[in-house]
Amino acid sequence: MGPLAKIAAVVLAISFMTFVAFFGRLPALRRTPVAWLYRLIWVYIPRAVMDLDQKLTSGRLTSSLSRFGTFIMYDKHPTVLIFFVLLLSVSQYIAVPLAWPLISAVQKLTLSMAVFFPYLFTYLAAFTDPGIIDPSNHAYHMSQYPYDFTLFYPGTDCRTCHLLKPARSKHCSVCKRCISRMDHHCVFINNCVGANNARWFLLCLFSTAVLTSYGGALGMSLVIERAVARNPTWSMLPWRAVLSDGSPMSWSAWLLAWSWGLHERINIGAVSLLALLTSPLVWGLLGYNMWNVYTGVTTNESMKWSDWKDEMEDGFAYKRKMGPDHPKDPRVEPMWTRWPVEADQVLVRTENGRPPHPSLKLEGSGEWEQVWRLKDVENLYDLGFWDNLIDVMVPGHCFNDSDMPAVERRGRSKATEAPVS
Ligand SMILES: [Zn+2]
Ligand SMILES: [Zn+2]
Repeated sequence: MGPLAKIAAVVLAISFMTFVAFFGRLPALRRTPVAWLYRLIWVYIPRAVMDLDQKLTSGRLTSSLSRFGTFIMYDKHPTVLIFFVLLLSVSQYIAVPLAWPLISAVQKLTLSMAVFFPYLFTYLAAFTDPGIIDPSNHAYHMSQYPYDFTLFYPGTDCRTCHLLKPARSKHCSVCKRCISRMDHHCVFINNCVGANNARWFLLCLFSTAVLTSYGGALGMSLVIERAVARNPTWSMLPWRAVLSDGSPMSWSAWLLAWSWGLHERINIGAVSLLALLTSPLVWGLLGYNMWNVYTGVTTNESMKWSDWKDEMEDGFAYKRKMGPDHPKDPRVEPMWTRWPVEADQVLVRTENGRPPHPSLKLEGSGEWEQVWRLKDVENLYDLGFWDNLIDVMVPGHCFNDSDMPAVERRGRSKATEAPVS
């Protein structure tokens, strides 16, 4: 294998492993080869290595490796963020100065913008408060979303923060704080993705996706330029490439011309190849996050929905109606939220697959109805794609026309001061 093929193989392997690491645990891909590969790469192979290490060094190697892995994934420190920014900067340092004299004025402008925006949005995503909930802003975060009585029920305290958990919030074990509209903790930005910075996170993914595809394509066009200069009848499309006498070019001659172009512009070629190979991964992550916006869920909620799906298939899930003016408990529920809709269903899990016993004091009214499929329940937090997008891009945007009732002000302060059991 030549050095070029080695670089390509390593880059391809890294992109593939990262793809599997990111997507293998997604509930949507649970029964696909991606999840199977995830288990192979991240569970079965490490287990086999651990067994081998146990025999050879009685486990010393793997215990230090796993400490390192835990440190990288579950502690708050900027290692991965620094790695990501270094990867961007070093790639640009290697390729951009060489490409600069070769590109047009318009390309210089677009390339500068493509290079600049990922830094800006990474900075904003990493250093914006994601929506940390503390006593001073608790009432505000309580008024963001109503409880849906499906994924989020009123009256749960965070045992660490000693505050009532607002709907859609979650305690982050890495940041050790409760985060409003928690999506997930992201090691790339060393921060949670929550109500206040989800927009920067999306723009960070989008600008990086644009950079990797545009920068990669621009660099490759410079490589192709060299290949064509050497061999004017060559084309990047193998079926268009011909020899000087017009006869079709053999595969080996076609590849030879590629390697000639890459050889002449090795730095630009290597960085462009890395960019083009990682590009689908970044677009994929952006696509996954946009799908969540479309369906009105956070990553955290998509896992909860996935658990509900299993409960439903096992026959343990029951729902019943809840009136729009169900009596609210001002100690644990916001009387008014900026959200335009209120919960109209209660979803519960039963232990034995039979409807909840009437003696249980549960919310809602009427008969319990067994639920078998996710599509038979409402997602209160899905207002349709555009409103969901506004909700992400404009934190705190008010979707509710009705004024905050007077009782609300009393209710809110009570909810804020609710004692911790
Ligand atoms: Zn907490
Ligand atoms: Zn976090």
